[in-house]
Amino acid sequence: MFGIDGRREMYAASFMYDTAPAADLLLATGFDPDVLSEAMPRVDPATVKVRVASPLFRRFWAKGIVAVALPTGIYVQPAVMERFRAGAEPERSGRLLVHELMHIEQWRRLGAIQHTTQYLGDYLKGRWRRLGHWEAYRAIRLEVEAREAAASVSPVGPR
Ligand SMILES: [Zn+2]
Repeated sequence: MFGIDGRREMYAASFMYDTAPAADLLLATGFDPDVLSEAMPRVDPATVKVRVASPLFRRFWAKGIVAVALPTGIYVQPAVMERFRAGAEPERSGRLLVHELMHIEQWRRLGAIQHTTQYLGDYLKGRWRRLGHWEAYRAIRLEVEAREAAASVSPVGPR
């Protein structure tokens, strides 16, 4: 069996892989977490956890979804966490994180009920206007705001 140190190391390794503070991943991808505070006054990226979503949770995700922000944190596809770990496509990864952090801001700004109502309401309005799934999704006002937040930041370079 493993000694206590071995078990602690294994735990640390799995913890490192499965979850990380958003601030650490932002820094690793070359983005400064501090510049987000104006656009996201309710979010401290150091306290928002990014986790690999469980297979069960991912079964409910629409095809093409790579990350989901809930009040409890940001959940990502395993491949997304791999990209963070490998440092591959850092700008894309960093902007994805900024996008999801804006959704956390929205959860806190609106509260869960209003957030969910507005999000689904916008989507259904889009579908009612005969937009396709992705068009309706992209037209959700909370998605527009998150995309704008992600587009507005610039990487400061890796540290
Ligand atoms: Zn989004």
